Amino acid sequence: MIAFGPVPSRRLGRSLGVNNIPPKVCTYSCVYCQLGRTIQMQIEHCAFYEPEEISKAVRDKVERARESGEPIDYLTFVPDGEPTLDVNLGREIELLRSLGIKIAVITSASLIWREDVREALMKADWLSLKLDSTREEVWRRINRPHRTLRLVSILDGMLEFAKVYRGELVTETMLVEGVNDSDDHVREVADFLVRLKPAVAYLSIPTRPPAEEWVRSPIEEAINRAYQILTERVDQAEYLIGYEGDAFAFTGSVEEDLLSITAVHPMREEAVSEFLARARADWSIVRALINQGQLIEMDYEGRKFYMRKLDGRPRR
Ligand code: SF4
Repeated sequence: MIAFGPVPSRRLGRSLGVNNIPPKVCTYSCVYCQLGRTIQMQIEHCAFYEPEEISKAVRDKVERARESGEPIDYLTFVPDGEPTLDVNLGREIELLRSLGIKIAVITSASLIWREDVREALMKADWLSLKLDSTREEVWRRINRPHRTLRLVSILDGMLEFAKVYRGELVTETMLVEGVNDSDDHVREVADFLVRLKPAVAYLSIPTRPPAEEWVRSPIEEAINRAYQILTERVDQAEYLIGYEGDAFAFTGSVEEDLLSITAVHPMREEAVSEFLARARADWSIVRALINQGQLIEMDYEGRKFYMRKLDGRPRR
């Protein structure tokens, strides 16, 4: 299906998905990919569909959504493979412009060293680039790239692109236990992000069945440490741990609000105290959530933090 949704997305509101790549053609075969192993690995640009076919499928979906009163905040290229393999990506974005809806692309950035790919991506309003590692051997282990790709060219391409891009650029780093979740490794990723300056650096974890059975999400403490290391260096970091609730909308329920905020970033003890005071509530609510296994309390560098308990952690 070329167009799907709209579906709720924490980062993009209500997002209508554009699937411009057939399953599963990719430049990578990430160990955590929720689409399974890559069927066709390639780096050559191709025309998979006619741009007009994509445009028509999206227009029809938008029309139907409008008829039923469903709002759409973004048209998002989030295909069953790598969207920048599509030689017509730039043209498709241009064709969709007249719908008057912002356009997002979620890419591995594996082809961003190509000038034509950077030109196509420049047309998007919002862009998410994958950055799981800045170390060659870890990148090979986690993303399993096409053998001709070079990490250094990708990182250089990202920096070059970020210098001139006028839209909103974010990054996504997927943490896999024992592969890229050590403090040293996260520090190196953070050092690169300091140079890239994304609007938000997202940390994510595998919450759906991964391509490889051995893949596991780090434990909450490791995710919190990674978050703290990132926020020491970058302006804004958040994590994506599988909850699509809106952390910034207050529902009036203290429990629900605490859980949705801590699904995005850990809260310091002082922040929780402040939140409880504003809500005219006390710590018994926090204790109850901990006892129910919904919230966990952690220590990091002598301070206490609270984080929503993960429940989507792939198990062996
Ligand atoms: S880049 Fe995306 S689609 Fe390709 S293998 Fe990795 S997670 Fe899957």
